[in-house]
Amino acid sequence: TDPALIRNFCIIAHIDHGKSTLADRMLQITGVVDDRSMRAQYLDRMDIERERGITIKSQAVRLPWDGHVLNMIDTPGHVDFTYEVSRSLQACEGAILLVDAAQGIEAQTLANLYLAMNADLHIIPVLNKIDLPAAQPEKFAEELAGLIGCDPSDVLKVSGKTGVGVRELLDHVVQTVPAPIGVADSAARALIFDSVYDTYRGVVTYVRVVDGHLGKRERILMMSTNATHETLEIGVISPEPKVADLGLGVGEVGYLITGVKDVRQSRVGDTVTSAAKPAKDMLAGYEHPKPMVFSGLYPIDGDEYPELREALDKLQLNDAALVYEPETSAALGFGFRVGFLGLLHMEIVRERLEREFGLSLISTAPNVVYRVVMEDGKELTVTNPSEFPTGGKIAQVFEPVTKSTILAPAEFIGAIMEICQGRRGQLLGMDYLSEDRVEIRYTLPLGEIIFDFFDQLKSRTRGYASLDYEPAGEQEADLVKVDILLQGEAVDAFSAIVHKDKAYGYGVDMAKKLRELIPRQQFEVPIQAAIGARVIARENIRAIRKDVLAKCYGGDISRKRKLLEKQKEGKKRMKMVGRVEVPQEAFVAALSTD
Ligand code: GDP
Ligand code: MG
Repeated sequence: TDPALIRNFCIIAHIDHGKSTLADRMLQITGVVDDRSMRAQYLDRMDIERERGITIKSQAVRLPWDGHVLNMIDTPGHVDFTYEVSRSLQACEGAILLVDAAQGIEAQTLANLYLAMNADLHIIPVLNKIDLPAAQPEKFAEELAGLIGCDPSDVLKVSGKTGVGVRELLDHVVQTVPAPIGVADSAARALIFDSVYDTYRGVVTYVRVVDGHLGKRERILMMSTNATHETLEIGVISPEPKVADLGLGVGEVGYLITGVKDVRQSRVGDTVTSAAKPAKDMLAGYEHPKPMVFSGLYPIDGDEYPELREALDKLQLNDAALVYEPETSAALGFGFRVGFLGLLHMEIVRERLEREFGLSLISTAPNVVYRVVMEDGKELTVTNPSEFPTGGKIAQVFEPVTKSTILAPAEFIGAIMEICQGRRGQLLGMDYLSEDRVEIRYTLPLGEIIFDFFDQLKSRTRGYASLDYEPAGEQEADLVKVDILLQGEAVDAFSAIVHKDKAYGYGVDMAKKLRELIPRQQFEVPIQAAIGARVIARENIRAIRKDVLAKCYGGDISRKRKLLEKQKEGKKRMKMVGRVEVPQEAFVAALSTD
């Protein structure tokens, strides 16, 4: 295709503002999906995406329109996947910034707009859902125009649901989004903006060609890893894969298949070039996604450990951001320390492990990565609280911090500030987007956000606040490790790294919780919370003589046997901590954040 006739664009928006629905209408209006095969959120192909109604993987579709080729890239909206969003943006020249006409600008509207502006994209402001009775298109057109610095009359108004205004929007894309510019006769350079593992076809790599040409049966080179592969198939998605015999030229968006089995060999953000005639420089911005949140994952049934390993191996084929290594816990047995991009990523991985692989899992409370500098100058990276050094030789501890942006109606300013202050936030600034809507910016420790921060924010603002955060380096903090001891023995799964001011609260809560959760034993069990050797909280589980047979009055022998069986069943689901029997449920309940 002549690059002058190509328009590459994406749709960016806050979650639920209607990206996928608008994409559906575009598929239908351009005729690539006929009315009979149309279904809602056509491009959300994963079960979990369809069930939760969210987009996790980006999707690229080629749409013919008015003699042009439009490549539309649907992006995931959630913060955990910002890296993928920013890669998708690199593959485009334009972005449709979609805003729900009944809601107005939200936190991810801003975050995505800044990403698009950084990528130098032409931005088309669009209000969606104008069919809703509650829509206020005039009010929000002004808000949106104020934000990006255009005239309110430049804001397009559509309904992805009814299709109103979508044709005009497509025309507008053709007229205003710049055609791609590249050098056709130079060495090939294509940006990988997504790669997915397919059981039948192996890894499918989605690329945007910047310079040169990629063809079938060509040896290609991945520039960040220096690995070479042969392209077995090359094509475009419209909306199902279609082989492109002529290959892909400047500005084109499509996929290639090389027969590799692991997405880590085809990394998002990497540059593909020709092995015979390699390009000199990579395309800018390759960055390996870094796990931000860690948690221990253990099979409830210890025998399922090999299955858990296999399941993680399989998931990783499709998720280059997922990292894990084996770990053992005295209390929970054999498992893995798993690193995630964020909380949603963690939830999704866990859910997939349980659903797609039929595993039952215990996960330890999530934690962030700490950098510990010892007095002798040695440095440790701590991804597991039980590895946090104890004793007086720590010089400094650093924790990751975020720049967080909260958008909410102005009446909630007080509540929001209270929550943020309570979590060691530092106010960066506050702006009014309109009379009754504010944007509040804080520096907040990531470790404070991953504990039910969003839930609290939502409940204190009746669901009206939205949150976005991005990593903003690290800060020194007064952090300590709190251990929980049963009968003098530390239970590694319950150790937590917390701020000094909150250590006491954590210790008391945990000790109380465990006293309720652990059944009485034949002997007294002291529960202690301690920082190093210093005990900061204490509870006691009183002893009982747990003689189940005493109830039987010696009479019915079969009843006696049944009781013994039952007791044995119960024992199987117990974990031993020293001499103390702790039921599985106690771990699950104590580790869940409520
Ligand atoms: P995404 O998260 O941005 O991809 O949003 P979706 O496309 O999944 O839409 C979120 C919700 O808004 C769904 O329930 C849609 O049916 C609904 N929705 C999307 N567009 C419109 C619209 O134009 N009008 C109305 N009334 N509802 C819409
Ligand atoms: Mg979506």
